[in-house]
Amino acid sequence: MFNSDYLNRVYAEVERRDAGEPEFLQAVREVFESLELVVDKHPEWEKAGLIERFVEPERVIEFRVPWVDDEGKTRVNRGFRIQYNSAIGPYKGGLRFHPSVNLSIMKFLGFEQVLKNSLTTLPMGGGKGGSDFDPKGKSDGEVMRFCQSFMTELYRHIGQFTDVPAGDIGVGAREVGFLFGQYKRIVDRFDGGVITGKGLSFGGSLARTQATGYGLCYFSAEALHYLRNDSYKGKTVIVSGSGNVAQYCAEKVTQLGGKVVAMSDSKGYVYDPKGIDLPKLFDIKQKRRARISVYADEVEGAEYVEGCKNIWKVKCDIAHPCASQNEMDAEGAKALIDNGCMAVFEGANMPLTPEAIALVQGAGLLYSPGKASNAGGVATSGLEMTQNSSRQKWTAEEVDAHLHRIIADSYSACLKYGTGEDGVVNYVKGANIAGFIKVANAMVDQGLV
Ligand code: NAP
Repeated sequence: MFNSDYLNRVYAEVERRDAGEPEFLQAVREVFESLELVVDKHPEWEKAGLIERFVEPERVIEFRVPWVDDEGKTRVNRGFRIQYNSAIGPYKGGLRFHPSVNLSIMKFLGFEQVLKNSLTTLPMGGGKGGSDFDPKGKSDGEVMRFCQSFMTELYRHIGQFTDVPAGDIGVGAREVGFLFGQYKRIVDRFDGGVITGKGLSFGGSLARTQATGYGLCYFSAEALHYLRNDSYKGKTVIVSGSGNVAQYCAEKVTQLGGKVVAMSDSKGYVYDPKGIDLPKLFDIKQKRRARISVYADEVEGAEYVEGCKNIWKVKCDIAHPCASQNEMDAEGAKALIDNGCMAVFEGANMPLTPEAIALVQGAGLLYSPGKASNAGGVATSGLEMTQNSSRQKWTAEEVDAHLHRIIADSYSACLKYGTGEDGVVNYVKGANIAGFIKVANAMVDQGLV
């Protein structure tokens, strides 16, 4: 399967032990397809059992989260924290609250996070966590009681030098506030560096909310410029999802001269040929927490279509999948290609199925994986940690300048490791190899731990 006996042996073992974890296996396979280019040049890795250790999380924590709903009924959810790899820094990665959360999804996200964090050039290891709790339709009181119960277990596993969580799907400013409040109450200490994505009045960083979406556009703009001598100006763009990443990706695309014509949620998508009215979208999603269909009810000329996967049938120049894993399959990729799309830059983690990636790359579209193009969020979390430790507060301009530099550096690393002898750039290989080499060197230097 891979051009390396060593990788084949390790993968067979992962497949045997983790057979019921399809998303995790998908992520490992994709990374091994890149590592096969370098692994045989480093016999010391096999001697050190490096890849076997790299695929195995350092620690997996699973716990019960009991809470009481507004009717007084007891509910029980399952909580997770995957402390994947701490070779280059404390574990760092978001918390996801979504009914689909399970061990496979947590492990795939943690595994990807190790490489992404390494690529940012900041000293952060990789981790991920969350719960199958669904914040949708819950009152603020219910969300608070759930977060307090979740943190009552999680607090003993985290800390600014150990493991620093943040937000992800279903975990925004409200949830981070409740989680931090409970942590502070339990440990009786204002330890701001224990979680990132905090509110601005208690240690949060300016520009963190926007960072993943903005960073995605900075990375994509570099690729458009470098490979096509082009830009967002005058381009028609699809942004799937309408959560944190999608909203600020849409805002930056618009600022850079592109027109976002379609956005979605898990039920369907809206098409607005005039370009999405962003203040209206922010009002619907951030203030009213309503469905995206409300946009079509309230904006003249916009239409709503059931089924989020249909969004890829809308004609566009650039597609930004910013919702969730495996949201674009072969059918979606074919529709984009047939409609003349030139680039797919991922905002979500692993949003394309392997078949969709093969089609997009095969058709010669520009393509970047989430671990390269969505690293702006965790990079700015790293900057929030720096501000917390040095008791400083940077301006939004200072944070944005740091973010620009980090994206430019990680873009250069992707080019360095992803440019083939024929000059063709493969950002998947670039991101995987660049991220891996730094972690591998640190693991070798630290001995068998
Ligand atoms: P979010 O604010 O919770 O928004 C998620 C959006 O995706 C919502 O519009 C949601 O619709 C939609 N969605 C969820 N599951 C879906 C599915 N199965 N099919 C189609 N749409 C679906 O989450 P987010 O923070 O923007 O995260 C989006 C993606 O970016 C995730 O893959 C996440 O891991 C990744 N990411 C996030 C960050 C960050 O800083 N937030 C950083 C790096 C990567 P509903 O409201 O209908 O559920």
